[in-house]
Amino acid sequence: MALNLIFLGPPGAGKGTQADRFARAHGIPKVSTGDILREAVEARTEIGLRAKAIMESGQLVSDEVMIGIVRDRLDRPDVVRGFILDGFPRTVAQATSLDGLMTGRTPLAVIDIQVPEDELVRRLTHRLVCGQCRANAPEGLSAGSQEAASARCGHCGGAFVQRADDNQAVVLERLKVYQRDTRPLVEYYRARPTFCAIDGLQTPEAVAAAIEAAVAQACHGADVGSGAVR
Ligand code: AMP
Repeated sequence: MALNLIFLGPPGAGKGTQADRFARAHGIPKVSTGDILREAVEARTEIGLRAKAIMESGQLVSDEVMIGIVRDRLDRPDVVRGFILDGFPRTVAQATSLDGLMTGRTPLAVIDIQVPEDELVRRLTHRLVCGQCRANAPEGLSAGSQEAASARCGHCGGAFVQRADDNQAVVLERLKVYQRDTRPLVEYYRARPTFCAIDGLQTPEAVAAAIEAAVAQACHGADVGSGAVR
């Protein structure tokens, strides 16, 4: 049975970190729509050129473009054993299209990582990523600190930078957009037996363990319900 997962949750909840970890552990691809768009921006493709300003202002790229990207990605053969969607769906229209794309596939397990807004702002405005391979900086390395200036990425040796959309004004806008457009997805998915809410304030190790437990239950068809699993 394939492991088809979506990681919901606001920006800064730890979706990317946890998706990387789960993908590595289970040998399935992580599909981050944010990463796909950032690659398109760097490669200066038509989609990238159109998406750049939208991303830098904290708004959402159109449903039509995003659904097309994900449809193409889920057509690739490497998803036969499963996939993790990180950052998609972000609107109800994207979620209903995704349900259409799931016909004939193992049903989605939906992991909602919950973190309060003040903590999200703190995390995002201090977050660093590798300027070359985009991996997250190690825990505790914070934007503006002295160690950050000399630290190098453990994967590729690149220097760490802040994402263009991780400044305070854009972070607040992204959180507003999340509340308006993406948060309704929690209600969209909550009634499904494969939905699970996770407390994202725990350590990354504890969050990872809670996700493993939730996915195992979801895969066994148990009623994971909507309560937090720790
Ligand atoms: P992320 O790396 O997931 O925080 O995404 C960075 C930015 O890419 C977002 O703020 C949006 O502008 C855009 N983006 C990523 N995924 C989507 C999506 N599913 N729908 C619309 N815009 C998206």
